[in-house]
Amino acid sequence: MTLPLAKFEEPRDQVNFYGLSRSALAALLDERVGMSRYRADQLFQWVYQKEVRDPEKMTNIKASDRERLQQLFFFPELGFQTRQISKDGTRKYLFSVSEDHQVESVMIKQPTRMTLCVSSQVGCALGCKFCRTGTMGLIRHLRADEILFQVLSVIEDARNFGDMFTNMVFMGMGEPLHNYDAVTGAIRILTDDFGLALSQRKITVSTVGLVPAIRRFLEEQIPANLAISLNATTNEIRSQIMPINRKHPIEELLGVLRDAKLAPRKRFTIEYVMLGGLNDTPEDLKRLSQLLRNLPCKINLIPYNDNAGLGYETPPSERVHQWQNELNSHGMTATIRWSKGQDIDAACGQLVTQSTKQKKSARLAMIDSVTP
Ligand code: SF4
Repeated sequence: MTLPLAKFEEPRDQVNFYGLSRSALAALLDERVGMSRYRADQLFQWVYQKEVRDPEKMTNIKASDRERLQQLFFFPELGFQTRQISKDGTRKYLFSVSEDHQVESVMIKQPTRMTLCVSSQVGCALGCKFCRTGTMGLIRHLRADEILFQVLSVIEDARNFGDMFTNMVFMGMGEPLHNYDAVTGAIRILTDDFGLALSQRKITVSTVGLVPAIRRFLEEQIPANLAISLNATTNEIRSQIMPINRKHPIEELLGVLRDAKLAPRKRFTIEYVMLGGLNDTPEDLKRLSQLLRNLPCKINLIPYNDNAGLGYETPPSERVHQWQNELNSHGMTATIRWSKGQDIDAACGQLVTQSTKQKKSARLAMIDSVTP
């Protein structure tokens, strides 16, 4: 299915509404048109809750103010460039964020939930060896409005299927904590009671382990869960497959999690991509139990999806189940995330956009330039 390109070009002198937090909106209204804070609350409700994006239709705002709002704001028309649907019901959306650049979002259909996976960057600087997005290098960060645009467009399209996501993860293209301000800004709008009012328990930010940004995320009590992509039990193997480990090794990463003051009943998610024969040995299983002992976490085992074509192997399913059973027998909670949407390249580690497939050799990951 092909629809027109999403338009992000901002008309001169108008402000893109979607990137503003409610407090930034209130400040802007005060400064530019002398309106009270209350108008920001009303505008948020109209736009995000009643889905009215034409100020003329905001009937509880007086006509002269509606006119000024009309002049002040620009609401990009929601939509996507293409949508593909997998045999298993997973839907992959391609969004154009500029003439040359696209990002992808995926709606993953599971028996008891629907998860929306959104992108936070075009490409990624972190260069994890098992991930195709990592082969692109970082092209640019997305802005908060471009992140929100993905969510709002998918919500609108989901009505055609009679569904809606139940959970949302920042696990698409990019390392979300490398784009900290835009990602946390979008989360604040998504969870704002006057905004989309999503439950913070249903939003997860997945990071490969940018320790200073994790610390900040926890200190600022960003309203979302945190998932850590661990993927190895020794620094030797982790540094081999995830260059970030040379900067922030396993002890430092788990240390910041252990120091965190989590709310009661809150837990981290530890993600472990199992690469057959590399990080799934019996010794790894023992070390993983030891590393995670007494850490408030659940473990998500993710069998590597060899469709990503990066030279790693999918572990046998018996081994994956054995790991799950063993970890559970040590009093931990381990689940398995089998890949979805493989036939449309929507599975974990497969997201890479066409235009950059041709350019990937020109952009190499620069791990030292990552300054979260
Ligand atoms: S796994 Fe995440 S952080 Fe690593 S290269 Fe892929 S998108 Fe970037």
